[in-house]
Amino acid sequence: MTDVVSQAPITSLMGNYGQPPITVVRGQGVYLYDSEGRSYLDFTAGIAVCNLGHADPDVTRAIQDQAETLVHCSNLYGHPLREKLAARLAECSGLDQVFFCNSGAEANEAAIKLARRSAWQRGFREKNVIVSLPGGFHGRTLGALSVTPKPVYHEGYTPLVPACRTAADLAGVLDTIQPDTAACIVEVIQGEGGLRVLPVDLLQAIQDRCRETGALLIVDEVQTGVGRTGTFFAFEQIGLKPDIVTMAKGLANGVPVGAVLARRSVAEAFTPGSHGSTFGGNPLAMAAANAVLDRVLEPSFLDHVNEVGAYLESRLKERFEEVSGRGLMWGFTVSDAKKFAQSALSAGVLVTAVGPNRIRLVPPLILGRRHVDEFMERIATITE
Ligand SMILES: *Cc1c(COP(=O)(O)O)cnc(C)c1O
Repeated sequence: MTDVVSQAPITSLMGNYGQPPITVVRGQGVYLYDSEGRSYLDFTAGIAVCNLGHADPDVTRAIQDQAETLVHCSNLYGHPLREKLAARLAECSGLDQVFFCNSGAEANEAAIKLARRSAWQRGFREKNVIVSLPGGFHGRTLGALSVTPKPVYHEGYTPLVPACRTAADLAGVLDTIQPDTAACIVEVIQGEGGLRVLPVDLLQAIQDRCRETGALLIVDEVQTGVGRTGTFFAFEQIGLKPDIVTMAKGLANGVPVGAVLARRSVAEAFTPGSHGSTFGGNPLAMAAANAVLDRVLEPSFLDHVNEVGAYLESRLKERFEEVSGRGLMWGFTVSDAKKFAQSALSAGVLVTAVGPNRIRLVPPLILGRRHVDEFMERIATITE
C-alpha cells in the first residue's frame, strides 16, 4: 500500500502543459497573485482573455446576478441575453447572424463546417477545400488543427481532416485558393505564429482571390477581436469584408465563450439540426459577454487602448528589436524567448513566448501608462 502511494503521480492532471512555474490564486486588475503571496504584472491576460482585467466589478456583478437567476437552459429554448449579444455582434461586424459556442477552436471548427456546407448547399459538392496560411493558428480540435500548419502540433494525430491546404509560404497563398476552395481562413495578426502582422496588400489580395474563385473569407478574430488591436475587430483597420468571423478569447473576460458571425446568405446553410452545442450561448456566458461589450463599446475605451498601446510601443522600441503589433497586442524579438519569459516571471512580470525568439505582450486593455513604466522597470535587468 505504501509503495503504491509513493509511486502515485504528483498531479492528477495530464501532462500536456508541463509543470506550471507558479500557482495563481487571485487576480485584481492587471495583477495576479500566487500562492506565496507574490504579485505579478500580468501581460498575458489569460492569453488575451481578461481584457477588462481580473475581477472586474461590472463583469463580476453580471456573473453573480445571472448565476442567481439562470445559469443554463440549452438552445432548445430562447434567452434574451443570447438574442441581445447576437444583435450587438452583428452590428459591430456588419455581418448578419451569429452562432455561439464555447471556445476559439470550436468557433473555427463551426466556421469550417459552415463554409463547406454553404458550398454544398449551393450545389458545389466538390468545393470543400479550406486554405490556411503558413504561421496560422486556429485551435487544437481535429478540424481547427488541420488548418493550423505547425508540424509539432500534428505529431501523433494524423490523419488530419482531408482537403485542408496550406501554402508553403505567404507568396504562395493566392495560388492555393482555387475553384475547389470553400474558404480561406486568415488572422490579421498571427498571435501564436510569433506576433506577425500580415501585410495589408496580401490580405486584400486574398480577399480578391476569394471573390474571384467563389471562396469564403474567414477572419479568425479569436485573439485580435474585442478591442485588442485598437478597433473592435482587427479587420476593420484594413478594409476587409469577411464572410465569416470567429471570436472567443476576450469576449466574456474569462467565462468560456465562442462565436461565429456570418453574412445571412452564408449563415442560412446552418439549417435546423445541422450544427449544435449544449453549452453554447448559455445565459452565464451571455451575461458576461454583454457586460464586456457595455464597456468596450463605450466611445473612450478604444481611444485608451490606442493611447496606451502607442506608449507601450514607444517604450518597447527603446529597448527591443523587431517590435510589431497594434493596439495592445505586441511582440518583440529576443535571443531565447523561453529564458526571457522565465526571467520575467522571476522579476514579477508575466509574458508568453510565441516561437523560439518571440515574446508576446497581450496585457489587459485597462492597462495604464504607469503599468507600462512598471513593466519596463521590472524587466530592466533581464538580458535579451
Ligand atoms: C487561441 C486561438 C484559437 C483557439 O482558441 P481556444 O479557445 O484555445 O480553442 C484560435 N485562433 C486564434 C487566432 C487563437 O489565438
